[in-house]
Amino acid sequence: MSATDTSSQAVLMDGTTLARTIVGATAVRAARFAELAGRRPCLATVLVGDDPASATYVKMKQNRSRKAGIDSRHVTMPESSTTEEVLATITALSDDPGVDGILLQHPVPPQVDERAAFEAIAPGKDVDGVTMQSFAAMSLGGIGQGAGFASCTPGGIMTLLAAYDVPLAGAHAVVIGRSPILGKPVSMLLQGADATVTMCHSKTRDLARQVRQADIVVAAVGRPNFVQGDWIRPGAVVIDAGYNAGNVGDVDFDAALPVAGMITPVPGGVGPMTIATLLEQTVQAAFIQAGLTE
Ligand code: NAP
Repeated sequence: MSATDTSSQAVLMDGTTLARTIVGATAVRAARFAELAGRRPCLATVLVGDDPASATYVKMKQNRSRKAGIDSRHVTMPESSTTEEVLATITALSDDPGVDGILLQHPVPPQVDERAAFEAIAPGKDVDGVTMQSFAAMSLGGIGQGAGFASCTPGGIMTLLAAYDVPLAGAHAVVIGRSPILGKPVSMLLQGADATVTMCHSKTRDLARQVRQADIVVAAVGRPNFVQGDWIRPGAVVIDAGYNAGNVGDVDFDAALPVAGMITPVPGGVGPMTIATLLEQTVQAAFIQAGLTE
């Protein structure tokens, strides 16, 4: 991908355009799958409870799936659901040959054991990359070979870095955040691409000093405008995975823009790549499970 480089400002990494290209290619592959298999790829979504934001996310994923030629099967479960009930639902979807990918919208209500629920997803259908098997695949290699997929936001970040030809081998990447769906897996993927990775979190001492060492900064904190412009090494690549109320990222964008070499805007950077990765991996899962080659 190329972007306007005004030399005094960072290149904007345009996730919206890249995601559109990926979804377009995914739709072509989904149509090819339908031709070969006699049915469309199918993504099952499970929503436990009635959190309006989660319901909106699920609806958006269903709409995008439909546009890409992927069927969706949606299961809504009551807020009072038990771990056993959620496990039974997910296990049934895991066993259903008509379902290619499973997404459990999280967070789930507090009485549900979220880790146990994730682990009920068959690794070959874990297109959201939330199981331990997927984490192992991201850490040890073997993503998308039938047993585990990339977590979607980390996978999307790696695709974005590749599209902008960001050199990873030997680069120093500083990841701020160590959540199981974002900070930890993106650290594993960067390390697998031969970056030298520093993982930072809330107990890290002198975070600014750590970030100043970085060729690549990944902000995955969940605090608006948290990363300051004077933490950024001139020319560094800044990936802002944060998405806070009011469409605000985790990086102080205005302050980082004149310093960074490349930067993802919020919105329009990492966000669209997440759903594109989900759809891409669903079609990939469909081909693998059906034993079909593209
Ligand atoms: P999370 O589970 O709340 O994790 C936040 C991480 O940030 C934790 O590891 C925490 O450290 C660390 N942290 C908190 N305060 C810190 C501080 N003062 N200094 C250094 N580290 C600190 O959040 P998440 O689910 O990873 O999400 C992070 C952000 O990404 C949020 O804005 C979220 O909305 C966004 N997100 C975007 C997408 C997308 O599609 N674009 C997808 C998922 C998430 P400890 O581990 O020590 O507590």
